Amino acid sequence: MFHTEDGHALELRGVSKRYPGGVEALKGVDLAIERGGLAAIVGPSGSGKTTMLQIMGTLDRPTEGDVMVDGYDASTATDNELSALRAHRMGFVFQQFYLLDGMSAVDNVAGGLLYNGVHLGERRERAREALVRVGLGHRLDHEPNQLSGGEKQRTAIARAIVGRPAIVFADEPTGALDSRTGREIIELLRELNNDGATLVIITHDRDLADALPRQVQVRDGEIVDDSAIHDPVAA
Ligand code: ADP
Ligand code: MG
Repeated sequence: MFHTEDGHALELRGVSKRYPGGVEALKGVDLAIERGGLAAIVGPSGSGKTTMLQIMGTLDRPTEGDVMVDGYDASTATDNELSALRAHRMGFVFQQFYLLDGMSAVDNVAGGLLYNGVHLGERRERAREALVRVGLGHRLDHEPNQLSGGEKQRTAIARAIVGRPAIVFADEPTGALDSRTGREIIELLRELNNDGATLVIITHDRDLADALPRQVQVRDGEIVDDSAIHDPVAA
């Protein structure tokens, strides 16, 4: 797999995605995000945001175009190489949390290191540290059904960052939360970004996106506006 230390945290070049059945979810998307950047991807439901995130996160492959992640050319990588790239370089946060019931917060977070070659004792130790970092040092042994929505999302964020990824992707991370809790979750994500992680946050909430340094607007599978083009410093 081709690798360079130069360049962006993320780059899409001419990326198109056609799903079986013929939906053109992305149509020739070009997008670059700087290392340490924070970009909001905004657009109505069905505009292609999740598809874009899945392709940036190498969870899916484009029909056409190239994807560079943290200097690696995902287009030429095998599925095994992409799994390793995700395990070591990326973290994911989703609207629905995807925590495992009947398992403590620590073990849910430790699961984020399952493919990193770290033994169980150290996985749990690092999971505790990650939970403290997201403000859940007092909830280590709670199971998901004993946590509030905001605490569940903090736990999911701890799982996403426990491997110290270079890039964190969040797909509608506040979609299942009330607006105040959602703002707190965005604040937490911004702190992670301040500590150095590149962050991509998908949202259809304009107010929330407006508070972020860069907004990329998606409509019908195309980028129709990018605030970094008006204000290049924010990129
Ligand atoms: P968003 O996240 O902005 O709501 P999506 O990326 O989920 O948008 O979807 C973009 C378009 O692609 C929609 O028309 C959706 O119905 C379609 N789509 C998404 N996933 C699939 C899939 N797995 N198979 C077929 N069509 C899909
Ligand atoms: Mg979506």
